[in-house]
Amino acid sequence: MDTSLFESVDQYIGNLFEDEDAVLKGTLKSMEDAGIPGINVSANQGKFLQVLAHLCGAKKILEIGTLGGYSTIWLARALPADGQLVTLELEQAYADVARRNIINAGLDPVVEIKVGKAMESLATLEADDEGPFDMIFIDADKLPYTEYFEWALKLSRPGTLIVADNVIREGRVLDDNCDDERVSGVQRFNKALAANQQVTATIIQTVGTKEHDGMAIAVVK
Ligand code: SAM
Repeated sequence: MDTSLFESVDQYIGNLFEDEDAVLKGTLKSMEDAGIPGINVSANQGKFLQVLAHLCGAKKILEIGTLGGYSTIWLARALPADGQLVTLELEQAYADVARRNIINAGLDPVVEIKVGKAMESLATLEADDEGPFDMIFIDADKLPYTEYFEWALKLSRPGTLIVADNVIREGRVLDDNCDDERVSGVQRFNKALAANQQVTATIIQTVGTKEHDGMAIAVVK
């Protein structure tokens, strides 16, 4: 697919709003320097998440999948001074880089990184009665997306916004015989989301500097 038009329009939008400041650019540079894969959201997607966080008046955000803290910073910047963002990351080395970036962004008073398997961290969050969250962003390994969604529901209240990234995978979700677990994981999630009566949900396709993909957006009833 020729994505040059999508990339140019993404740059046009980015140039108009100029929201990716030195801290966010530095976050990407720190990831590159540390050899962390560039699988973060794009700048415009980060801004989109930030707008969504403002839209739902989020004071408590949960993120599943920190990487180097790029989307964390976009989201945490939507929080009030007494807000809270909990972000879950498997890799200690990524969490260390993210922590430095979050401190550099001046967001360490509101951001907590929990290192370990997200499934275990989610169970602990529930056991410790840390919910409900106002917004939950699912962006970790794709195979257990359905289970992450089920945990997200447990950590929600009516009105909680749940967003899940990478649910279209360049249209490969159309292939019922795909043996890539990143695809089958989101296919299963998309079906479960559509069938779930506790939420009203949809998926928007995303294009731009990243591959053609999609974000699922659900509001808990
Ligand atoms: N949200 C980040 C951003 O846009 O800047 C990108 C997150 S990246 C797509 C997915 C992250 O999930 C990686 O950092 C990966 O190490 C983490 N991850 C993968 N499996 C995980 C698991 N079982 N528990 C917690 N984190 C996991």
